[in-house]
Amino acid sequence: MFENADRTELSELGEFGLIEHLAQHFGTKNQHSIKGVGDDCAVIERSETTFGLISTEVFLEGVHFDLAYHPLKHLGYKLVSAVVSDVYAMNGKPEQIQIALGLSNRFGLEAIEELYAGIIIACDKYKVDLVGGDTSTSRSGLVVSMSVYGVVNKDLITYRTGAKPMDLLVVSGDLGGAYMGLQILEREKRVFMEVPNMQPDLEQYDYIVGRQLRAEARFDVIDILEEIGVKPTSMMDVSDGVASEIFHLAKVNQVGFDIFEDKLPIDPQTVETAISFDLNPSIVALNGGEDYELLMTIDQGDFEKIKNIPDLTIIGYVTEAALKNQLITKSGNTFDIKAQGWPISQK
Ligand code: ADP
Ligand code: MG
Repeated sequence: MFENADRTELSELGEFGLIEHLAQHFGTKNQHSIKGVGDDCAVIERSETTFGLISTEVFLEGVHFDLAYHPLKHLGYKLVSAVVSDVYAMNGKPEQIQIALGLSNRFGLEAIEELYAGIIIACDKYKVDLVGGDTSTSRSGLVVSMSVYGVVNKDLITYRTGAKPMDLLVVSGDLGGAYMGLQILEREKRVFMEVPNMQPDLEQYDYIVGRQLRAEARFDVIDILEEIGVKPTSMMDVSDGVASEIFHLAKVNQVGFDIFEDKLPIDPQTVETAISFDLNPSIVALNGGEDYELLMTIDQGDFEKIKNIPDLTIIGYVTEAALKNQLITKSGNTFDIKAQGWPISQK
């Protein structure tokens, strides 16, 4: 089946190349498996009117979080947010979650209770039930994985496919905050290692640090779309950064995107912090990950319905130029947005 005689480095493929490569070798055989790999959730036939949705996230210590500054309670909350966000990205409602844990004896009962306290708060917030999981020993730090099951009305489901030229590109909330929050936390950690008695003052960074440690998933946006009667033509959540996500949307829809720099929604705290780190706030907004906002394309005919919704910003539109994603800067210059984004340090 797999005919690679020599060793191929995973870095040659990248995360998305790897998934694509593996997915060629398996399809679906059950008639109830409507959609397998390739969207925010897999889609399953559930009833005449509804689909079931499933997705999984894995968070690894040292890769996705650092316990030096990530309280376990916040981590539990963030994990639930990350996984239910994939259900919202399909315009659905999450109902159940399961957790898989890899624990080392470094943790006592109280630490695990903290993790669960965050999970339980998130379960109340998103109205989901924790219905099981798996527990094992880990020799390489804490591993937490979460799966979600959700439902969506068949008429309302939004896939990554469906965007067409002239559709508006819309994003919820603001961008780049979680990335700048991470930069602050990493900086404070370095300071703390050098001067252990110094207590970091994070108050002035409360918003962006909160965006990083205790991400929120946008169930409210799904409710707003329902209220105003708008079904996006395509949608996904922003976990890796808008630059990376529009690359996916462009590819699966064979379209391009024009994004206007002056329309990017960026919180003032993100802007100030980016500047103090010598970073360009727009590049941070496009490339910073973990915002868990929703990125969608909306038919021009729905413009009147969304134009005054404060939490939705039109940042550009879909073009016919397949895979050509461009940023139109404040000064009117045009740059190609690369799939991996620009180097984040570029001013
Ligand atoms: P998201 O960022 O929304 O969580 P991903 O980029 O992780 O989505 O995944 C994209 C698609 O690839 C999804 O359909 C997911 O189920 C699938 N996928 C991810 N990893 C694997 C894997 N190792 N094997 C098979 N499918 C995978
Ligand atoms: Mg997603």
